[in-house]
Amino acid sequence: MWKKLKRSAQGAHVPHRKNTSDQATRQLPLPEKIVLPMQQHIGAPCTPCVKKGDDVFVGTVVGKAGGFVSADIHSGVSGKVASIDTVLMPNGARVQAVVITPDGKQTKDPSIQPPVVTDAKSLAEAARACGLVGLGGAGFPTAVKLSPKDVSAIDTLVINGAECEPYITADNREFIECADTVMEGIAAVKEHLNIAKVIIGIERNKPEAIDLMFNLTKDDPAYTVKPLPSVYPQGAEKVLIETCTGREVPRGGLPADAGVIVMNVTTVSTLGKFLKTGMPLTTKRLTVDGSAASEPQNVEVIIGTPISFVLSNCGVKDEAKVLMGGPMMGTSVSDEEMPVLKQNNAILAFTEKDAHIPAPGACIRCGRCIAACPMGLSPVEIAGAYKKGDVDELNALMVDLCIACGTCSFVCPAKRPVTQTMNLAKLAQRKGGKK
Ligand code: SF4
Ligand code: SF4
Repeated sequence: MWKKLKRSAQGAHVPHRKNTSDQATRQLPLPEKIVLPMQQHIGAPCTPCVKKGDDVFVGTVVGKAGGFVSADIHSGVSGKVASIDTVLMPNGARVQAVVITPDGKQTKDPSIQPPVVTDAKSLAEAARACGLVGLGGAGFPTAVKLSPKDVSAIDTLVINGAECEPYITADNREFIECADTVMEGIAAVKEHLNIAKVIIGIERNKPEAIDLMFNLTKDDPAYTVKPLPSVYPQGAEKVLIETCTGREVPRGGLPADAGVIVMNVTTVSTLGKFLKTGMPLTTKRLTVDGSAASEPQNVEVIIGTPISFVLSNCGVKDEAKVLMGGPMMGTSVSDEEMPVLKQNNAILAFTEKDAHIPAPGACIRCGRCIAACPMGLSPVEIAGAYKKGDVDELNALMVDLCIACGTCSFVCPAKRPVTQTMNLAKLAQRKGGKK
């Protein structure tokens, strides 16, 4: 029987490297093509609803959601469908993709108009029409998040502005550049889901965003701006809920089981924009940084833009490794022609020197991975149980709670691939012990 989790919540003091915090976002020019994979979210893939030769506009649906847990995909350019192809995704899967050649006119789809939202149901429908997913990296469809089984049990909306990964400042810029739509999106969720309290959690290394949100909310007692410790992984959903509310999400449960909905700041702001304009999710702000980036910056790009186009427009050269996302949880890019996806928030490029992965040494049983794990797990014991194929022990050690945050690998003095072992152990647990 599972006992209440005792989380150390120690985490790791990773270097911040928020080099681009103060830089206004630059809009990148139109690429020669955009590539829209039909899987840019957790859940069922989309089905292309256009064919080669079709004309599309900015905001036209090109991929229809494949189920309740799914999200439509829209074109960010006006132009012609060049092909329906298959592309390799960062996780190694091949998926269908709609390839579009822009005509350079950026004509808006004539059907675009702001939605009529009157209650929780129509708000969730608006999020669905926007093609909105968790933009902090999770990719969970927002319409599903806004449709909890028992909405009356939700009393707190937590806005995730932690942005705890090194380098990434895209959410910080969303607070600063789009404070109006951040507030409008929050107000809509609060009103239509009848949520009593809002807590806006922002790591202390973003003082401008904290001050701005504090000034915008100080006259409304329903709002709290919570400066968070700058300790990785402060933005992990369960850690954030505990820091902001003191509540713990039960094992195998959802934030709703703790009476909470968590929304990333860029997600809620994009909802605010959609409610105003009716323009679905077609662009994304990315932090481009890393030792191979001579001009670190935040850029706004059309979703589907090839990463190679982003790199060449941001002074990246001699890169030996490119990551989609941050250095702790990002995914290595095996082909720079891969497109920017909805949930990407950074492209980081590193030189050979910084891309080098040291050879792992033997475990010295120092226990640092245990002390640092934000979920209170024992990675060293889990690794042993995995090696033995002992699924009962993996269950007892609660490997399913691992959030793949990378903290254990970061602190390991022997440079062991601890996180990768945790991922394999989780898989083995799901498969009943088979490796
Ligand atoms: S990757 Fe998993 S085991 Fe490692 S620190 Fe994060 S939650 Fe703990
Ligand atoms: S931190 Fe590394 S060396 Fe230390 S116990 Fe964990 S796996 Fe072993």
